[in-house]
Amino acid sequence: MYELTIGLEIHTELKTKTKMFCGCLNDPEEKHPNVNICHVCMGHPGTLPTINKKAVEAVLKLGMALNGKLPETSKFDRKNYFYPDLPKGYQISQFDKPLVIGGELNGVRITRVHLEEDTARLTHDDNNNDDDKKNKGHSHGQKSLYSLVDFNRAGVPLMELVTEPDIKSGEEAIKFAKELQLILRHLEISNADMEKGQMRVEVNISLMRTNFGTNNTNEIREISGQISENSRVFGTKVEIKNLNSFRSVEESIKYEIERQSELLEKGEKIVQETRGWDDVKKRTVSQRLKEESHDYRYFPEPDLPPMNLKEFDLETLKVEIPELPVAKRKRFMKEYGLSESQAEALIEDRNLAKFFEESVSEFDADSGGLGANLRGENIQLFFNYLTSDIKGLMSEQKIAFSELKITPENFADLLVLIIKGDLSSRLAKDILKEMYLTGLDPNKIIEEKGLKQISGENELKPALEEIVKENPEAVSNYKKGKETALQFLIGQAMAKLKGKGNPEILKKILKEIID
Ligand code: ADP
Ligand code: ZN
Ligand code: MG
Repeated sequence: MYELTIGLEIHTELKTKTKMFCGCLNDPEEKHPNVNICHVCMGHPGTLPTINKKAVEAVLKLGMALNGKLPETSKFDRKNYFYPDLPKGYQISQFDKPLVIGGELNGVRITRVHLEEDTARLTHDDNNNDDDKKNKGHSHGQKSLYSLVDFNRAGVPLMELVTEPDIKSGEEAIKFAKELQLILRHLEISNADMEKGQMRVEVNISLMRTNFGTNNTNEIREISGQISENSRVFGTKVEIKNLNSFRSVEESIKYEIERQSELLEKGEKIVQETRGWDDVKKRTVSQRLKEESHDYRYFPEPDLPPMNLKEFDLETLKVEIPELPVAKRKRFMKEYGLSESQAEALIEDRNLAKFFEESVSEFDADSGGLGANLRGENIQLFFNYLTSDIKGLMSEQKIAFSELKITPENFADLLVLIIKGDLSSRLAKDILKEMYLTGLDPNKIIEEKGLKQISGENELKPALEEIVKENPEAVSNYKKGKETALQFLIGQAMAKLKGKGNPEILKKILKEIID
């Protein structure tokens, strides 16, 4: 048997206004290449970097949210390597004095969180590049002879979080990454969209034999080939890169478990290496043998002074940390009686959760006597109208909560009308659509469009009498016991009343007329 061990390294692009060490715009939506660049982020000799304080603060906030330790001092280092996406020939990163040490999330220990700069974006494959196709005419199926470099991303603040090898399954790994994503979004320090490369997960994964037939560490070392300092035994790890979705994280872990256990079964050794994920062929491929930290010749960045964290207003940063997902999830279940999956559906978008809470509290304030019934069925109505109807309308037009015209007050007013029985669900949906389009309050819409539900028997009766006269066949069918005929007649009457009849009362009067 083998025991699975996973440690994650997660890079996140921070959502700051400007880049890490210069004043260039940090704009991930910029499509035109090489416009947000300057001498500093292009690595021209003689230029000097300056530290973006907002980026440092963002990392410190995350550190506090994860209960990590913030050291007194922290510094930047040069990580030297050559690649065309790195104009200076080194990346400014952090080596032995990261901004955050330790911490914990979902029962997984955090090793450290540090800050560095992102690299330029390279485009290798001209088949994916329209401009290139035009220039070269017929290049189908051929690799490009050159690569294109876009420096807009070079120097964007990049945060790296490293976990201890505490994760025991693929599901746990995904759960960790998703929770971190949610926290980053709650803290508003990154959009953390994996498809856009704003959050990149690297999976370190190893298998370890659980039965060595001995407890002698030296013998185990011999058999397993590796032993860690605290004398926990580990197998040799492989690092998987290029994972740009949660699905590929999951699939690549599954693939590696199979690949590594097959090798171990055959008595072969696992090679410590970096492997890439091929999302088309659904397999990992060897990229390079593992480099050691001394390969990078790290040394302190001479152009940046060490940071004294006392110079940051940690108290204010702490106050700015909002309620975190784990607390919010619990509170939503307890306070509103929602199920776990319902609470999750709301907190996955901070603005959705906020809208929900604001509209419920408006309802509490306005509903005049209905408040007592608020917990229970009525909350479910809020939940359903919000997560299916409003979100449905929003996703049709791909708008975000920040662009929604419906206010929590107006939404609460609509729910008061529904709960008091003044609106049929069909009318409610029509009005909601109108609210969505115009941002008007529901009472105004009802007034302007004359949409109020008609429940008065005297107002409903004439329409029903006409329908009965016009449809003798359906009437006699109903008398013969066909329930569907009754539904048909109600439908006809409803059409005559433009959907405004109260269906319950319509049914009652219709029965009285016929019987
Ligand atoms: P390296 O020096 O090779 O980069 P680190 O000690 O920095 O290795 O660890 C990098 C990541 O790999 C961390 O997330 C760590 O938890 C994880 N890791 C270390 N050893 C193992 C192992 N044997 N199996 C799985 N993950 C591991
Ligand atoms: Zn710049
Ligand atoms: Mg490492």
